[in-house]
Amino acid sequence: MDHDEARTALNKLGWPDWMLDLGIRANFHCEYCDKDMLADVDSYDGWQKDHIVPDGNDDASNLAIACKTCNFIKRNSDPRALAKGQDRDSLVAAARKIVSERRARKEEVLHKTKNAVEALLGQGHASGSV
Ligand SMILES: [Zn+2]
Repeated sequence: MDHDEARTALNKLGWPDWMLDLGIRANFHCEYCDKDMLADVDSYDGWQKDHIVPDGNDDASNLAIACKTCNFIKRNSDPRALAKGQDRDSLVAAARKIVSERRARKEEVLHKTKNAVEALLGQGHASGSV
């Protein structure tokens, strides 16, 4: 399969050219957490495009491939104030920073939740109350 045949095959699988171009630029990884978006069905199903600057500009320079979790975590955050420059790479780097800080906070909440759930389940078993 050559390059053109591969593109045609992907078009037939539901990938429009503009989306393929975004995927190629991102190496088919989430641009915020580096998740391989083709690794498994969950990843593939989580494929989303994010507006780097949430101003509705649909130009390819303002779009990034993001996994569902990163896109949700980033929401409408505007990376311009945090970015070292206003070029795409600087804006993506700033958005990555925003997302990774929020992910770290979520990790903490998850950790505390797991501990509490373990205690809850352990206590329920010990007392026999279900
Ligand atoms: Zn991600």
